Amino acid sequence: MNENVVDLVGLLRSEVEALMGELGEPAYRGRQLFHWVQARRTRDVNAMSSLPRGVRAVLVEHVGVSRPEVSRVQRSLDGTRKYLFRLEDGEEIESVLIPDDGRLTTCISTQAGCPLACRFCLTGLMGLRRNLRAAEIVGQILALQERLEQGERITNIVLMGMGEPLLNFTQVERALRILSDEQGAHFSPRRITLSTVGHIPGIQKLAASDLGINLAVSLNATTDAVRDEIMPINRRWPIAELLGACRAYPLPNRRWLTFEYVMLDGVNDSREDAKRLVGLLHGIRCKINLIPFNTAPDLPDRASPRERVEVFQRVLHDAGLTATIRESRGWDISAACGMLRVEKENA
Ligand code: SAH
Repeated sequence: MNENVVDLVGLLRSEVEALMGELGEPAYRGRQLFHWVQARRTRDVNAMSSLPRGVRAVLVEHVGVSRPEVSRVQRSLDGTRKYLFRLEDGEEIESVLIPDDGRLTTCISTQAGCPLACRFCLTGLMGLRRNLRAAEIVGQILALQERLEQGERITNIVLMGMGEPLLNFTQVERALRILSDEQGAHFSPRRITLSTVGHIPGIQKLAASDLGINLAVSLNATTDAVRDEIMPINRRWPIAELLGACRAYPLPNRRWLTFEYVMLDGVNDSREDAKRLVGLLHGIRCKINLIPFNTAPDLPDRASPRERVEVFQRVLHDAGLTATIRESRGWDISAACGMLRVEKENA
């Protein structure tokens, strides 16, 4: 897209209305334009037939509608699809579509790479390349919607792809407001989940906002000694402070926090860990998602044996906690949790 034009994909509805106002048009024209871009996914301004011809002629000079370019698609035996997107400056990111039980969940990225270097995560090995712009976050959803099969509809969005969403708060917030706008793609915030390593200022900002999305926290350990080792961010915001922020998080009625817990063999998967976890989460309305570790040659850890994951789950259940074991999806195409890393081909 030409640098001198405004990318409509990253604008809030109110901003599109203001832009139309500058052209001397009433607000409802802005609403129509937003609808064309976000709901109908029309990229060609000239095809936006409800707008007067004269308005379209002026708009064409000033606006554009971007899309990330799909550079590769991989399809798993279980129906999961992974998309590699190339952005305008050549950076690459990944998104995943996961069909499951009548739902179609999309897992999207918020950064190219990630600065946090969790020991068990492949994206962490890349380091941070850069934050994504709101248009690039929204663009993943628009591009995926254009590639759905007959009868498919995206039902859920999880911000669990590449990157730490709370380190890119402003653009993530903007993207979520655009995606949930009733004149746009209109995703209910209840069907959107943001997953974080536990960036406390970000959790507080989210708590103070009116976004109304679900929060998942990647806890992954029950002692600071272990969490410091596997998630360096813990040295800055240790477990007690993190759980304090979770306790202070205002949960709407009938909503739950989610704690994610990647099961690493001999690291965080003992019966004692499970018992400690029960103690730590006391009084927090939450569900626990136990995630089987997805191994990779570049990662030092091994996966916990299934029996140990089940024992861990049983201890949580016996204490009255809700704990599920996440099924590993898209494993055969490296689309599973923590497997997103752009593989550079050996030229
Ligand atoms: N930065 C955010 C979102 C991206 S990671 C966060 O940390 O929550 C999404 C989830 O994948 C996190 O719960 C993380 O702990 C988990 N994960 C990362 N690497 C993994 C791996 N190799 N196997 C299984 N889960 C992994």
